[in-house]
Amino acid sequence: MKRITVAKGDGIGPEIMEATLAILQAAGAQIEVDEIEVGEQVYLAGNKSGIAEDAWDVIRRNKVFLKAPITTPQGGGYKSLNVTIRKMLGLYANVRPCLSLHPFVKTKHPGMDVVIIRENEEDLYAGIEHQQTDEVVQCLKLISRPGCEKIVQYAFAYARQYNRSKVTCFTKDNIMKQTDGLFHRVFDEIAPNYPDIQNEHWIVDIGAAKLADTPEAFDVIVMPNLYGDVLSDVAAQIAGSVGLAGSANLGEKCAMFEAIHGSAPRRAGQNLANPSGLLQGAIMMLNHIGQANVAERVQNAWLKTLEDGVHTYDVYQEGLSQQKVGTKEFAEAVIARLGQQPTTLKAVSYANTQALDIPKYKRKPLIDKQLLGVDVFVHWPGNDPDELAALVNRVSTPAIPLSLITNRGIKVWPNGFSETSCTDHWRCRFLPTDGQPINKQAIIHILSNALEVGIDTIKTENLYAFNGQPAFSMGQGQ
Ligand code: NAD
Repeated sequence: MKRITVAKGDGIGPEIMEATLAILQAAGAQIEVDEIEVGEQVYLAGNKSGIAEDAWDVIRRNKVFLKAPITTPQGGGYKSLNVTIRKMLGLYANVRPCLSLHPFVKTKHPGMDVVIIRENEEDLYAGIEHQQTDEVVQCLKLISRPGCEKIVQYAFAYARQYNRSKVTCFTKDNIMKQTDGLFHRVFDEIAPNYPDIQNEHWIVDIGAAKLADTPEAFDVIVMPNLYGDVLSDVAAQIAGSVGLAGSANLGEKCAMFEAIHGSAPRRAGQNLANPSGLLQGAIMMLNHIGQANVAERVQNAWLKTLEDGVHTYDVYQEGLSQQKVGTKEFAEAVIARLGQQPTTLKAVSYANTQALDIPKYKRKPLIDKQLLGVDVFVHWPGNDPDELAALVNRVSTPAIPLSLITNRGIKVWPNGFSETSCTDHWRCRFLPTDGQPINKQAIIHILSNALEVGIDTIKTENLYAFNGQPAFSMGQGQ
């Protein structure tokens, strides 16, 4: 018997959770449930994070959490509970299978069977944002080697466990050579450890276009957080409906399972909602806790139910569906088919499926790091880069001269174009002409000179070489 934590959530949450738990129980799942309250009522009671301390204790003790969708109240500084839970519990992998159920659920892509594996903790979702000038705000995109290694390992291990033949990586490393470049590099490092699985990389823009057009060309796709957030919804929608997809959020110690859709408040309390998304999350949970035989029974009964044309309103189609049912009746129809297999759709077999054991990240030996220079970001409301260069040249030292000014990454000095549009946010790069390392005192010197001449410095970024390789981007047009 495995104790799990359950949150019934908001809107349609309680109805679809009740339906899901009824199916699990009828299928013989060996689970005991501890219920916690999270979401709208907790937020509105004044808890900005939507979860109380004692609820955290239950989640951390049980380690496995089945969560219905919750409503995040608009405005008022409420933090998204989903993002908080994923990050606090280190749930680094978000797994979303997107399977077409043609001809029983309408889709333009009958052969689609794609699993999106999204990095879940970092990238632009670190949520580190600042306004720096009147006109410019920034969001830090953080990508780490442990983050990349864990998610790429997970994708290949998942592919092997579920007999999938290919893992594709999507990044934008032609533009973001450091951040997405690291993700792609780690993918290339790990792929050869799985010679039985094909691997390929696509630039995310054309990869996304291909996914939307020809999803049959893909199998497992691994990607950084933002692309994964967007494209997993696209993939679920083109497979048939976001209402049919579930997701698993997995970490080294804990795991959370859910539907990918929200709390659909307008449909709440009417016995209308489709419980399939949450049920799909619950099936992944059963596999995770070593109850693969129950997972298989439920999945095959669910496929058979859809195949028999028993459909909730969101997938119901005149002429194709046999019976329009509510949430409760759909659950009863699945229960009635436990032990049956689909005949047209492919039955699943989850024999030997269990939680994946991903090797723990080991910190590598320290890399030799040298300070080569500094980027000083300046708030300056002028328009003429030559004028700014004259001002900034007064703060540089002969040993570390001003080498470049960019505006939003584009070189504007020396020899900029008058056509380039500029805002009030300038990056001034100081680099020694001889390429020799500098010390931090030199940076402090530049900053204190800037203070004296009245230049408004808003941040600095050190320019490093790692193992002798400069590890920062050039200015565009440099
Ligand atoms: P939503 O997913 O709740 O609804 C989008 C559309 O899909 C609606 O038309 C809805 O009726 C339909 N739909 C969704 N699930 C369905 C189901 N199971 N059966 C039938 N139809 C279904 O998205 P939204 O309207 O943008 O968000 C509503 C609330 O949900 C917001 O407060 C949002 O913050 C929250 N939300 C929560 C989660 C989560 O808890 N994981 C995820 C997304 C959104």
